[in-house]
Amino acid sequence: MTHIYNFSAGPAVLPKEVLAQAAAEMLDWHGSGMSVMEMSHRGPEFISIYQAAVRDLRELLAVPENYKILFLQGGGLGQNAIIPLNLVGRKAQPATIDFIHTGSWSGKSIKEAAKYATVNVAASAQEDGFAGVPPQSEWRLTPGAAYLHICTNETIDGVEFQCAPKLADDTVIVADMSSHILSRVIDVSQYGVIFGGAQKNIGPAGLTLVIVREDLLGSALPICPSAFDWGIVAAHESMYNTPPTYAIYIAGLVFQWLKRQGGVAALEQRNIEKAALLYAALDADDFYQNHIAKEHRSRMTIPFFLRDESKNEAFLAGAKQRGLLQLKGHKSVGGMRASIYNAMPIEGVQALVAYLNEFAGRK
Ligand SMILES: *Cc1c(COP(=O)(O)O)cnc(C)c1O
Repeated sequence: MTHIYNFSAGPAVLPKEVLAQAAAEMLDWHGSGMSVMEMSHRGPEFISIYQAAVRDLRELLAVPENYKILFLQGGGLGQNAIIPLNLVGRKAQPATIDFIHTGSWSGKSIKEAAKYATVNVAASAQEDGFAGVPPQSEWRLTPGAAYLHICTNETIDGVEFQCAPKLADDTVIVADMSSHILSRVIDVSQYGVIFGGAQKNIGPAGLTLVIVREDLLGSALPICPSAFDWGIVAAHESMYNTPPTYAIYIAGLVFQWLKRQGGVAALEQRNIEKAALLYAALDADDFYQNHIAKEHRSRMTIPFFLRDESKNEAFLAGAKQRGLLQLKGHKSVGGMRASIYNAMPIEGVQALVAYLNEFAGRK
């Protein structure tokens, strides 16, 4: 088999070492005689796996003490409903939620939240074809909003916030970081809630991560399902109901791998380097196009188009032959997309760049 590089947007590439370790431990975890999948979530073996995962994630992201780390299910889209159910009750009803509309995923969040609250799209990049983040000076925020929701990496559109918004008041910022969490250093204290599905940059699908400031717990609306009431989940250490145990185990192995790589700051340097290599190849001439404003381009999920789209099928077939997999763009936008998450080695990006140059007939 030729060497394979997997550019899928998610579920996505995982570190080979993690998969090898999981394979080695599959039938008998640390002499327990059980697979992690077979363990009670309340037994000492799994509790130790869970505690290490929480501890390592807290260390990797420098999560302050007054934040809870929750492991849930239901994915990023589930959180689009769960977040308003947990947060709008802090305000007089009907509460307003502000959104910045930067692409497909924030668009979905807006639609879902409208079932539970009044929604104000404080700024939208839709008219610009989602080519960047609207400047903060143009945001029309609602005084007293329940919270401001942003998607800090638009996975489909390839737009990334390079820093947290600075608000004039203490409005809670909720950030969907599904596709770039742990790829760059962040200041968790700038956010009230950080959430994401695990299947992009953390581990297997099935696990949803929520990092929430403690004072935001305990205001869930009465109609909020108990299993999604963050206050209840936090009080039960993410074990109010059965958590996705195997996904937590793999995520924990990924956290250990990240620590061995030197942590998030070291990964960020590599991610900067990887993205720079790829964008340089895309920008070399007009054979390929990426229309995102340079300062808002994503380092993780990079959409691009062939100027001559009749060559799309040939491009993908040639890529596959060279072991460069899952480069087809999201069906809603077409074209191509290269997701170069933490687990994508620089060699994978170099192989893609060599192919981009070859296909474009460059020397
Ligand atoms: C993938 C993704 C989601 C949706 O996640 P699901 O787990 O499929 O619900 C939400 N937001 C962003 C930014 C994503 O990349």
